[in-house]
Amino acid sequence: MTKDSIKPQNNSNRKKHRLFKPKKKRSAEEDAAIQYLQAQYNSILPDQIKTFKDFPLSQKTLKGLKENNFITPTDIQRQAIGYALQGKDILGAAKTGSGKTLAFLIPMLELLFCKKWTRLDGVGAIVISPTRELAYQIYETLRKVGHLHDFSAGLIIGGQNLKFERKRMDQMNILICTPGRLLQHMDENPLFDCSHLQILVLDEADRCLDMGFEATMNAIVENLPPKRQTLLFSATQTKSVKDLARLSLSFPTYVAPHEQAATVTPEFLQQNYIICKIDEKFSILWSFIKNHLKQKVLVFMSTCKQVKYTYEIFCKLRPGVSLLALYGTLHQEKRERIYQEFCRKSNVVLFATDLASRGLDFPRVNWVIQYDCPEDVETYIHRAGRTARGVMGKGDGLLMLLPHEEKIVEDLQKSKIPINQIFVDTSKVMLPLRKIESLLSDNSELKKTAQRAFMSYIKSIYLMKNKDIFNVQLLDTDAFARSIGLIVPPVVKFMYKQNKSATEDKVTEVENDAVEKLITKKGNDEKSDESDLDAVIEPVFKVTETKTKKEVPLFDFHNVIVDSDEQNLFLVKEKNVSIDVVVPPDEDDLPRKKIDTPSNKTAVVKKILDPKVKLNNKVKFGDDGEVVADEKKDIKSDLGKQFIDESVFTLDLEKTRELLEEEDKFDKTRFRERVKAKHKEQKRKLKNKKKEDDGEKDDFGSQSESDGPDLSWLPDPDKLYGPKEDDQTDDTKSDSEYSENNNSPESKVSEDDQEVHRPHKRKQNGDIPQKSIKPRKLRKIEDVSASLSVNEAEALAMQLLKSK
Ligand code: ADP
Ligand code: MG
Repeated sequence: MTKDSIKPQNNSNRKKHRLFKPKKKRSAEEDAAIQYLQAQYNSILPDQIKTFKDFPLSQKTLKGLKENNFITPTDIQRQAIGYALQGKDILGAAKTGSGKTLAFLIPMLELLFCKKWTRLDGVGAIVISPTRELAYQIYETLRKVGHLHDFSAGLIIGGQNLKFERKRMDQMNILICTPGRLLQHMDENPLFDCSHLQILVLDEADRCLDMGFEATMNAIVENLPPKRQTLLFSATQTKSVKDLARLSLSFPTYVAPHEQAATVTPEFLQQNYIICKIDEKFSILWSFIKNHLKQKVLVFMSTCKQVKYTYEIFCKLRPGVSLLALYGTLHQEKRERIYQEFCRKSNVVLFATDLASRGLDFPRVNWVIQYDCPEDVETYIHRAGRTARGVMGKGDGLLMLLPHEEKIVEDLQKSKIPINQIFVDTSKVMLPLRKIESLLSDNSELKKTAQRAFMSYIKSIYLMKNKDIFNVQLLDTDAFARSIGLIVPPVVKFMYKQNKSATEDKVTEVENDAVEKLITKKGNDEKSDESDLDAVIEPVFKVTETKTKKEVPLFDFHNVIVDSDEQNLFLVKEKNVSIDVVVPPDEDDLPRKKIDTPSNKTAVVKKILDPKVKLNNKVKFGDDGEVVADEKKDIKSDLGKQFIDESVFTLDLEKTRELLEEEDKFDKTRFRERVKAKHKEQKRKLKNKKKEDDGEKDDFGSQSESDGPDLSWLPDPDKLYGPKEDDQTDDTKSDSEYSENNNSPESKVSEDDQEVHRPHKRKQNGDIPQKSIKPRKLRKIEDVSASLSVNEAEALAMQLLKSK
């Protein structure tokens, strides 16, 4: 989208064409045609113009218009084109969407055509637009209707490759540009030469000439030749003599076809406004979007940061419709992409700043929402004018106002803007505020964006000129912050300072007053003491505080009009049906308790010494919300329990030391137990691992080796006494007996385990735990020895020892 020729692809054809047509002959024909056209300029009668053909226009222009279905000129085109062709300076004013672009592009093309302008002639026409998007749009319209002409045109806007533009600047005949970039070329580019400029056009002229561009425009005009034609167009045209003088326009022709019209806004634009509280705006907007998923909606907000935040958070909430955001701080490529996307799509919501309020011709916009009160009537007209465009274009506008901003409605109505109040159907207003809050708590970057949005809005209100409508002191900033998901409202420093200084002034006044009163009182009553000063100051001071807070006018949800159409959140059809709506108090509206944080050291000490305050009192909660006892924190010692009973948690160091010593004993025991258990667990794991490594499998399924002692060291009784018939059954039985025994509550598992791992030691010491372990083989020995005589038993014992 950098500069380009209007007709680059046709250049070769043109050259071929020339081969068969002698240049002289063509030139003579052209001259004759031009003369014929020019001769008719002075006899153009706007009222008699029915189609573009009725204008004395070149065939190339007429063909270009026809190709794009521009057959019948609009009012402004009919009235302005004739004067412009006559070479007059024009001050054109016509409603938004009434076709002003062609009203200046057609005479511009014709002028260069009649002057037989070529590439070698340099810059012949400059069109200045306040925004890049509008410049792009004008450039596109020029390409469409002027592509049959041989002029080259360049789009000179910021955010593009300056070097690229610089090199080609001298070949351009028509420049469509933004003021800043044009001046940059004038200042820095040696190839830039506009000394032969024929025509200068300012689209959205009042905006180009206002304070924002004042210095730039003055510098630009200084560089332009004074002998030129100048056309100014806008829906809200400047008539300021000062502005006209700046452009050296002494007697411009004022063309305003709609001056006598009943309204200054498009005929088929339905305009509405609602009054809502600041903390309702966000939810109303969300509800509106949810109720208009199949529509094309454009939402205007005061600042880039508001647009950014609203876009980001609404995207996360997934409303079910495409969302876009357009604002100045975006990268140029992104701006272009978003602009194109909004033009192309039909079910989409675009959040934008006033960047998009001027001139942009988005097709088929259903709704324009002015989320924040416009700065002035002009801004309102331009914003609202993004819908109901073109011939018979329809659309709806909604202006959202805070109660104290309603004053602007009077100004609008005085300026011939038909706007009606509608009422919000509160039953359809909803916003997943909890979800927003949790999204913000999870995403610190998003939270910062929200905080910035909040601050930027407050600042924008603070900086507004019209203090009757924009009064930052009347904003319930806390409620506003909470309504956009900020649980902790950011501190607005400048407001805080203002409030503080105002309060301080009041307090000083009150103090002086109080002291005076006291002095008089003291004169009457000698018993008065210092506390009287507080007594006098406090109530007066409190009143001062509440007074500033309560100044926020309350919004009353009376006279709600009910609409049968379920899709409509806003109600316009039946008026004056009064339904009282009880608005359930939102949790967020309830005052939040402030966290009492001690502000200085004295306060900290006071807090510690407060017997009601238990320091380090931490309560743990489980997953199900139940309190989980922390045994570390349990007071075990008698001394400690006595401390609790007496509530003597103070700064008595001696007592605290005693308590700690007592508690220390219990802590040590607990520590030893824990170490033991840990060792036991480690050993068990080691053993399991070892067994797995050896590939041993227990015959008793899941029962592992650790569940029973290793008895492999005992002599095999079968070898001693020969095999027994019921051997297999006995074996099973005894092992299960053992297992039962081992699982009994009395069995000391840990100790047994330790013994089990030391079979040889046990053998050496002859220390067999007979009581707890009674394996089959041992019992057999016992049984056999019981039936023997002493000598026989001795012999058996000897034999056993030998065999081992
Ligand atoms: P304005 O600059 O007055 O706001 P635009 O020049 O952007 O209006 O034109 C608004 C819309 O009207 C555009 O979509 C444009 O294509 C269309 N338009 C302009 N002139 C005509 C015409 N003579 N016939 C049909 N449509 C037109
Ligand atoms: Mg326009």
